[in-house]
Amino acid sequence: MKKIAILGSTGSIGTQALEVIAANPQEFSVEVLTANTNADLLIAQAKQFNPNMVVIADKSLYSYVHEALDDLDIKVFAGEESLIDVAGMDNVNIVLGALVGYSGLLPIINAIKHGKTIALANKEVLVVAGQLVNALSHKHKANILPVDSEHSAIFQCLVGEMQYGNVPEKLFLTASGGPFRGMNYADLQKVTKVQALKHPNWDMGAKVTIDSATLMNKGLEMIEARWLFGVAPQNIEVVVHPQSIVHSAVQFTDGSIKAQMGLPDMKLPIQYALGFPQRVKSDFPRFSFWDYPNLTFEKPDLNAFRNLQLAYTAIEKNGNMPCIMNAANEIAVQKFLEEKISFLEISNLIEKTMNAISFIANPTLDDFIQTHAEAIAFAQKL
Ligand code: MG
Repeated sequence: MKKIAILGSTGSIGTQALEVIAANPQEFSVEVLTANTNADLLIAQAKQFNPNMVVIADKSLYSYVHEALDDLDIKVFAGEESLIDVAGMDNVNIVLGALVGYSGLLPIINAIKHGKTIALANKEVLVVAGQLVNALSHKHKANILPVDSEHSAIFQCLVGEMQYGNVPEKLFLTASGGPFRGMNYADLQKVTKVQALKHPNWDMGAKVTIDSATLMNKGLEMIEARWLFGVAPQNIEVVVHPQSIVHSAVQFTDGSIKAQMGLPDMKLPIQYALGFPQRVKSDFPRFSFWDYPNLTFEKPDLNAFRNLQLAYTAIEKNGNMPCIMNAANEIAVQKFLEEKISFLEISNLIEKTMNAISFIANPTLDDFIQTHAEAIAFAQKL
């Protein structure tokens, strides 16, 4: 029985992870659930899954959650500090990192320091501090298993290869292209928030859905792949594949390519990470080739979707530059969702912030915390 802590249980990944767990009660149990502000859903989840403890990050909701769970044997905590603490709990085997953005960094670092297996959906943790997180995970023997569908695909292609020394020569990271695929720069001047929030294939949270529309999601994933699989950024190629059936592919040194395929359903990569190395039997809908007679592939348009180019620039500089880019993107997405900036202004805001904040070649954790705060403050003022 694997005992799981879900950081971010009320979000899109968190709720789907609980569906996987509910379907496999003999494989998984829930030790910890955490939510940011969605107290009602957290309470309902706690009543259904009976964890050892829950955390509500918003302290003002503590008494509301505490009273609701009063007659159950569930400990209730509140605040950011508690979120970090529960990630290192003794009786937890796997920490599912499903927080949004930078907020996941310190809890995941604490989980790594306690040697937990990390099922990582929160890609920004590796984007912000990939080198440092990798060094810590080696030191504390904490495995990081990807939950992001593309990285799960690459990981599944590498199982059975890495132990024989077969390293990847190149990664093909597939992208649906999002709702604005095929649009040029001029077309993108007119797009709205409502259009950006309609993803063609994947049902996800608002942050990652906007990141998909701007292709920043693929930029973040390229950086995530660089740290997960040790492949240089120039050997990670983004391929637009609108059907989202090929979830990504690996090219080996003999030229052979392995791809992982399936219907676009986040429950599959979530379950693979939680069950690894076993494949847990599921009744998810099965793929049929006859439903998809045409699988197509295109080059991304880096002139229209500038965020992807910015991500390559950030990882080539490395140091604290991906951290600066990520912070600026978090503010840009928030401002776009508040309809304070246009779609095309997202890239401008990120680029200006990347040019303004002081570069640090070999940042410490404190430097990352400082850089994030500075970049957030700068981007807010733009
Ligand atoms: Mg993805």
